[in-house]
Amino acid sequence: MSDAPPPIAATKLMKKLMAEHFLGLDRAAREGSPKVAWCTSVGPAELLHALGFLVYYPENHGALLGATRMASETIPVANAAGYSPDICSYLTADVGAFLKGVTPLTKAYGIKGVPRPDVLVFNTNQCRDVQDWFQWYGRHFGAPVIGVRTQRGVGPVLDSMVADVSRQIQYLVPALEQISGNKFDIDRLRETVGLSKQCTVMWRRVLEYGAKHPAQLSFFDHTIHMAPAVVLRGLPEAVTYYDTLLAELVERDKEGLAAVPGERFRLYWDGMPVWGRLRMLGDLMASLHTAIVASTYCNSWIFDAFDPADPFISMARAYLDLFIVRDEAFKERYILDHVALYGCHGVVFHDAKTCPNNSNNRYAMPQRLQDLHGVPTLVINGDLNDLRCFSDEQARTNLEAFVEQIEELAA
Ligand code: SF4
Repeated sequence: MSDAPPPIAATKLMKKLMAEHFLGLDRAAREGSPKVAWCTSVGPAELLHALGFLVYYPENHGALLGATRMASETIPVANAAGYSPDICSYLTADVGAFLKGVTPLTKAYGIKGVPRPDVLVFNTNQCRDVQDWFQWYGRHFGAPVIGVRTQRGVGPVLDSMVADVSRQIQYLVPALEQISGNKFDIDRLRETVGLSKQCTVMWRRVLEYGAKHPAQLSFFDHTIHMAPAVVLRGLPEAVTYYDTLLAELVERDKEGLAAVPGERFRLYWDGMPVWGRLRMLGDLMASLHTAIVASTYCNSWIFDAFDPADPFISMARAYLDLFIVRDEAFKERYILDHVALYGCHGVVFHDAKTCPNNSNNRYAMPQRLQDLHGVPTLVINGDLNDLRCFSDEQARTNLEAFVEQIEELAA
């Protein structure tokens, strides 16, 4: 749109940091040093960094496959190898890409393939798929697959749960020492947990620019600027990035720049992004003068509990506190609180076909929000990566009708 706000200058720094991250991983994997650990998005990254590993996140690679729409060609390859079209399409896109010998890292950075792992470390707090995913690569590379098995559907986070997860993280140390060749140092862990905490605090402040009226950043901006929080958590580079971005946001705020010029309505997005249709959805929402100002997904990289004074316990608590780990009552309260905090007129639930773990419409949450709390809701069908499950036309019609409904309610 012609009156769209100017691009965010800090993006240039992000691109540089991402290039250094992937080129560093590629070099380390080829030279055999430092060692490379693959980690799930909420695996114990702080511990891995403390032991000197370079950390690679396959879910981030899955999202890149989705955003570049390469996933459409790679998912069927994994399906043909026996991985069902009904399971996580990050997994199928990623395994299919590996089997096909392609990666978006080639076009972006000239890298031939994903970095060979020395170890794969999972945390099942989000789903079982991550474990099965890592086991595929573990078998392929003959690399050890170790991890943490976390409780799911958690109501109050009990001390007994935290103690269990904390012990499981500590049990990883001897194996990781052996693979990395480095001795565990609690002070180094305190440092990486401290850096993750700083990253969290700053990422939250970035997201809160969505709470401004009009919102200064939207969900579609968040999905871009979250990259350092996802892949550089526990490193000083993430802190440097958010320092730079926040300084720019302060200035943009003074100028009164809006993410969606002429903003009339504000929505909350629950569930996974549709990575291959972010541009189409962003343009559609802008044309409706409606900003998606907050989301469960982008909030998932806020880990309030990190505390360098008590690294293992606080890591366990941070990983257990997360929305995706919690029970239905917690999730309902969480969404309602964010709807209020961000001044949303309604909630869009994305029912992602291959991610039941992060589709929160399936147990009548939209109906409860609507009937008990008067919050308008819409469910759109789709998927994070498998565009065979997403219809542009249907999403467009549903979103346009939803905004009309909100307009009538506001009249
Ligand atoms: S939470 Fe969903 S998208 Fe993420 S790895 Fe698990 S199944 Fe895939």
